[in-house]
Amino acid sequence: MEKRKEFSDLKRDVIDAGTCSSCGGCVAICRLLDLDFLSMDPVSGLPILGGNQSSATANEACTTAPLVRAAMGDELQCPIDCGYCYYQCPRVEKPELQEGLEEYYEVVNSDEEITAAGVAEDVLTSLLASALADALVEGVVTVADADGGAQPEVRIAMYKGALIEHAGGNYGAAAAMTGLADAIVKYGLWSVALVGTPCQMEAYEKMLTVGRETHNAHNFSSVVRLRIAVFCDGVFTNKGEKREGCKICDDLTGQFADLSVGSFGAAGGASVVIVHTDVGKEAFESAQHWGFIEAKPLDRSAVAALRQKQAEKREAGLKEQVRRAHSAVQ
Ligand code: SF4
Ligand code: SF4
Repeated sequence: MEKRKEFSDLKRDVIDAGTCSSCGGCVAICRLLDLDFLSMDPVSGLPILGGNQSSATANEACTTAPLVRAAMGDELQCPIDCGYCYYQCPRVEKPELQEGLEEYYEVVNSDEEITAAGVAEDVLTSLLASALADALVEGVVTVADADGGAQPEVRIAMYKGALIEHAGGNYGAAAAMTGLADAIVKYGLWSVALVGTPCQMEAYEKMLTVGRETHNAHNFSSVVRLRIAVFCDGVFTNKGEKREGCKICDDLTGQFADLSVGSFGAAGGASVVIVHTDVGKEAFESAQHWGFIEAKPLDRSAVAALRQKQAEKREAGLKEQVRRAHSAVQ
């Protein structure tokens, strides 16, 4: 029988191979989550053993690594027969896309408080505010730009004011999946909305489909009631280069989400929303019903342009995947 993989295999096959998308799924699912055994390195943005959680304060960070070492007898080793992180990773094996809806809308925010706050991503904020007001979810995993935008932080919002405060965060630069662990373990929430990039939605799908019966120690997948993807064309380094893990990405809009939100193809001031699932449709219609948003079908030429852009990203990502696979066997 093949030996179960563990973090050292994930490091070799994904992280060191330059395919990690920094989604944070492996950190969230780690069986030793309570010991902060895995974390996202704030400098490289990649998963590491020990260290400090991306959401930890500097003070917590000082105590985390010794705690892990003490618990592991001074050696950072995965428990025998674990491998949760390896099997969770969407870059080890991509989840299968289920058939669903594909409805395109042009949407504007109509919530006065959100309009008055003048937030970026007002439509996304309104959809989330509606989900909270409807009691569809108790909290939302969001990303806020702390330090004047220099340091994105995964945060949990449980009321509209917090959503407004967090709005405009750089989702691509934060491991939003780690917020699921925070929402459940730290905040004790039972119903959550997850907002993230397409790769983070893919990681969640893996948690849902693979993790439910096998490696889902904390049963995270059952608490997510709504997934909203933000369009993403890649995250760029300080030097202006596309991140290695983004070069193989083949999803622009977040096809694994219930709803996708972005600005490409929308008239000025509006956003495009794509409805992918019945859950998404219900949340979307409820937001219209209660006056959070106004929507109309997206113009056919704008739909065609968005599909074209999605196809171009898919083609470029697949091409890079093939190129890397070829150079690996040479
Ligand atoms: S689960 Fe996400 S963060 Fe972890 S190695 Fe895979 S892609 Fe990277
Ligand atoms: S391009 Fe965006 S969605 Fe794709 S891997 Fe990079 S951050 Fe994730």
